[in-house]
Amino acid sequence: MLKRSKVKSYTKKFPRFENESLSLYYAPRMPKAMIKETEEAVALARKFNDEVARPLSLELDRKTHEDPDYLPVELVKKANEWGFYTMWIPKLFGGKGFNLPSISYFLEEVGSVCVGIANVIGVHYLGMAACMMLSNTRIIKRVMNDVVEGEKTGEPCLISYCITEPTAGTDVEEVDLEAKGRLGCHARKVPGGYILNGSKIFISNGHFSTWNVVYAYTDLKKGADTKVALMVKRGMKGFSLGTHENKMGQRVCPASVLNFEDCFVPDELVAMDPDIIKSYTKKTPRNVNMQHIDYVFSISRAGVGAFGVGVARGAFETAMKYANETEIDGKPMVTYEWVQCRLAEMYANVRLGRLAYTEANLANQHRGAYNILQMKPIYYYLKYLPVSYFKKVIAPLLDKPIATWILSKWYIDWQKPDDQHLTTGLASMAKFSCTDLGVRNCQMALELMGKAGLRHDSGAEKIIRDAKLLQIYEGTNQLNRINLFKSIVAPACPKATFFEE
Ligand SMILES: Cc1cc2nc3c(=O)[nH]c(=O)nc-3n(C[C@H](O)[C@H](O)[C@H](O)COP(=O)(O)OP(=O)(O)OC[C@H]3O[C@@H](n4cnc5c(N)ncnc54)[C@H](O)[C@@H]3O)c2cc1C
Repeated sequence: MLKRSKVKSYTKKFPRFENESLSLYYAPRMPKAMIKETEEAVALARKFNDEVARPLSLELDRKTHEDPDYLPVELVKKANEWGFYTMWIPKLFGGKGFNLPSISYFLEEVGSVCVGIANVIGVHYLGMAACMMLSNTRIIKRVMNDVVEGEKTGEPCLISYCITEPTAGTDVEEVDLEAKGRLGCHARKVPGGYILNGSKIFISNGHFSTWNVVYAYTDLKKGADTKVALMVKRGMKGFSLGTHENKMGQRVCPASVLNFEDCFVPDELVAMDPDIIKSYTKKTPRNVNMQHIDYVFSISRAGVGAFGVGVARGAFETAMKYANETEIDGKPMVTYEWVQCRLAEMYANVRLGRLAYTEANLANQHRGAYNILQMKPIYYYLKYLPVSYFKKVIAPLLDKPIATWILSKWYIDWQKPDDQHLTTGLASMAKFSCTDLGVRNCQMALELMGKAGLRHDSGAEKIIRDAKLLQIYEGTNQLNRINLFKSIVAPACPKATFFEE
C-alpha cells in the first residue's frame, strides 16, 4: 500500500492543484460573512420577484411588442428604489458594499423569472466594472457618487458599457482582431481633451444611462495600440441617442444606438489613453488593453453565466409545473419515466451551470478583479466601518493622482499572466456553458409542453426568446470557446495559432 509520506512527496513534485478545482481550494478561505450576505441578496431577489418581476414580466414583454418604442422607465425607477444600483458599489465609493460574487446568485434568481429584468439591473454593473477597472480613482468617485445620489433623489443614474460599433462586434472584444476590424469610432486629441466622432450600437440600457464608458481609437487602422476610454455623460454637447433595437427577446432592456458628433470630452473624463498607460507601466498599450478587456469580461461573463442558469431554472420550473398539472391518458404527466428523465436532466443543467459560474467567481475573488476587496482583513474592514467614515477619511484621498497610480499599478502592472489567463478562461467557460445549458433547458421545456409551451402566456415561449440573446452578447459563445482555448488549453498545444488572416 502507498505510504502517506510518499503521497506527500508526489504533491510536491506536481504542479499546484489549485488551478484544477478552485471550489475545493478557495471556498474554505472565503470570509464566512460573505455567505450570509449572499443569502440576503438572494432573499431580496425573491421578494423583488414576487412583488415586481413576476407581475410585470409578461406584461412588459407584451407592451414592448405592441409599441417597440416603449421604454419601461418605471421598472428602472423601481429597481432604483429597491437599492439595486448601489448594492454592489464598494462602500469606499458610497455604495452598500455587498460582496461582488453575490450579484451572480442575485441575477440568477431574478433571471429565473425574467432575464430581461435581470439585465436591466445587471448590465449597469458591466458599466461599473469597466469604470472601476480603468482605475482612475477620481473618475470612479465622481461616477459612483452620481449613482448614489440618483438613488437618494429617485432619479436613477445608470452606467453603460459601449464597445460595439455598426461594423465591429466580435472584433472589439479581442485586441488581435481590433487592428484588422472595421473600426469607426474616432477620437482626436486636442488641447484639453478629445473630440469624439462615430457611433455605438446595441448598447444595453443606453436609453436609461447617465454615464457611458466609450472606447474609441485615435487611429482607426491601429486598433488597441491607439485606444482611448472616455466617460461620456448624457447631455454632453455632440452626444445623442438614436433608436433602440426591436429585438427578439429581453425586450425590457433597450439596446440603444449612441451617436457622437464632434463631442468634446475633457481631460478630466479621459480614463485611459496611451499616455496615461505610459505613466504607470512599461507594458504596451495593446497588452494593457487586453488586460482591461479580460478584467471586465471576467466579471461580466460570470454574470451572464448566472443569467444562463436563471433561464435554465425558469424553463425547468415552468416545465415541472406543467408536468405536475397535466394528465396524459388519465395519468399525471410526472408519472411517466421519460418526463422524469427530462426533468432530472434539466435540474442537473441548473446545478452544473451554477458550479461553472461559481468557479469563475472564485477565480475573480482570488486571482482577479475582486482580489483586493475579498481579502479577509480588507473585506471585514470595509464591511463593518460605516459609509460616513469612508466619506470623511478615504474619499478625499481618491482625488489624489497617487491613488490612481497605486490602483493602476495593482491591477495592470502587477497582474500575473497566469492569473489573467485563468480568470478570463474560466469566465468564458461559465459564459458559454451556462448559456448553452439555458437554451438547452428552454428547448426541452418546449418539447415537453408541446403546443401549450408556444402560447405567450405559458412563459416558456418568452424564456427561449430571451435565452437566445445570451449566446450572443458578452462575446458570442464561439468567441468564448476560442478564448478558453487560447487562455487555458493552448499551452498544451504549441502548434496552435489564433486569429490569423
Ligand atoms: C441584446 C444585446 C445586448 C448587447 N449589449 C451590449 C452592450 O451593452 N455594450 C456593447 O458594447 N455591446 C453590446 N452588445 C453587442 C455584443 O457584444 C455583440 O453582438 C457581440 O460581441 C457579437 O458581435 P456581432 O453581433 O457583431 O457578431 P459578429 O462579430 O458579426 O459575429 C458573427 C458571427 O461570426 C463569428 N465570428 C466573428 N469573428 C470571429 C472570429 N475571429 N473567429 C471565429 N468566429 C468569429 C461570431 O462568433 C458569430 O457567430 C449587445 C448585443 C446584444 C444582442
